[in-house]
Amino acid sequence: MLSKLNEVQDFCKKNAIKMIDFKMIDISGRWRHVTIPVDRLNEDVMKYGIGFDGSNYGYAKVEKSDMVFIPDLSSAQIDPFVQTPTLTMIGNVLVIDPDGNKPFDQYPRNVALRAEEYMRETKIADSMIISPEFEFYVLEHVSYECSPNAVAFTLDTSQAEWNSGVNDYNNSGYHIPLKSGYHITPPHDITFDLRSKMCLLLEDWGVKVKYHHHEVGGPGQLEIEVELGNMTEMADKTMVIKYVVKNAAVAENKTATFLPKPIFNEAGNGMHVHMLLMKEGKPVFYDENGYSGLSQEAHWFMGGLLKHASSLCALTNPSTNSFKRLVPGYEAPVTIGYATSNRSAVIRIPAYAKSPEAKRFELRNPDATCNPYYAYAAILMAGIDGILNKIDPHENGWGPYDFNLYHLSEEEQKKLTSLPKSLDEALDALEADNEYLTRGGVFPKELLDRWIRIKRAEAEAINRIPHPAEFAHYYDL
Ligand code: GLN
Ligand code: MG
Ligand code: MG
Ligand code: MG
Repeated sequence: MLSKLNEVQDFCKKNAIKMIDFKMIDISGRWRHVTIPVDRLNEDVMKYGIGFDGSNYGYAKVEKSDMVFIPDLSSAQIDPFVQTPTLTMIGNVLVIDPDGNKPFDQYPRNVALRAEEYMRETKIADSMIISPEFEFYVLEHVSYECSPNAVAFTLDTSQAEWNSGVNDYNNSGYHIPLKSGYHITPPHDITFDLRSKMCLLLEDWGVKVKYHHHEVGGPGQLEIEVELGNMTEMADKTMVIKYVVKNAAVAENKTATFLPKPIFNEAGNGMHVHMLLMKEGKPVFYDENGYSGLSQEAHWFMGGLLKHASSLCALTNPSTNSFKRLVPGYEAPVTIGYATSNRSAVIRIPAYAKSPEAKRFELRNPDATCNPYYAYAAILMAGIDGILNKIDPHENGWGPYDFNLYHLSEEEQKKLTSLPKSLDEALDALEADNEYLTRGGVFPKELLDRWIRIKRAEAEAINRIPHPAEFAHYYDL
């Protein structure tokens, strides 16, 4: 890992690097970048940074939009997807202040770092270790029209084509039926080499891969899982993973999407998040005598997640499409509850993770349309609230639900609480329930207000577009 300016300059000379590229995160969780010739990387850049317009990142008003990016040399990596030899890095974002520039408190990375600091202040733990799982579709021939005047959105890989197996890429005849792709092998699994390529690129970038496989959605739903790591570091890696997956697919004339529900009637893309806490080198969540091997603290942490599940969705599932995934029948959660080995509840405790260091649970509702820094920070804040206020999930009637929650009678279903059914419902929940996020100055109120405003406008704009299904149902009425 490089850390000093002269080390980076030497590395650039040795590797004939021509450009230095700075990647910043916008409010919705996309990377954006700005690039300088290699000779311009000097002490001044490290001290004064690179100025940019924060209003185009969704953060600031135009009249107060000057921001500054300071690179973090230790994050430098060669970008394998561009032709010009380029070294890319992330960093911190500051706001201009007459008393000296200050770290921008709404910048996603700063929110996540502050959440970790707050966790240490509460003495609950020293670190939260997480591992997100990445599900995505690799498709061919996707085009859509979405101009202000467009009446229809079309995915060329339409439902009819999908069912007849057109997305087997080369019409080999080896079609994967709906919901039958889990761990499928070649010749059906024609993206095997692409996934391996993606994983090797990730390893080069410092992301340790656990495994990759074909997912349930067939053909073309894939999954990459990575090794557990510290929360903010894992948010950085989430950005890298999405960048590598998309660009590696494009390099092969395909396209990758993390859209939670791209195809009707087929498995959606989740981003389950596994988590555990460590304090003084010991796992906080382990107790061999507890339910499923989990300690009292783990139960309270789950209690916090379940209590705030609806408002959390506004940050972990922040797109209108997110709620098309959270429906029964596709291994995505619908019910606010916890259980062992049960994929229909919001929290699943994996039965196979038995050792104290691996003892953990996964939150299943998140999807990759989130801003990972805000999503992981919000998850941590909800869990901390659970521990501080001793919120017991069992006493609150949230489980354990060790049965299939998709197969309940209407009567039984009524007794359970469901996740929000739309982005608007999730935003209502966040508006009503956000004190747990603002504690310790982790989520500035201004950021939450801005987030709600932006997401409401997004949902409203999308709701106003006539949908192709409305043509099918109502055209001849
Ligand atoms: N695709 C499912 C979801 O949407 C998860 C399926 C799985 O990982 N077995 O969450
Ligand atoms: Mg998985
Ligand atoms: Mg999966
Ligand atoms: Mg999982």
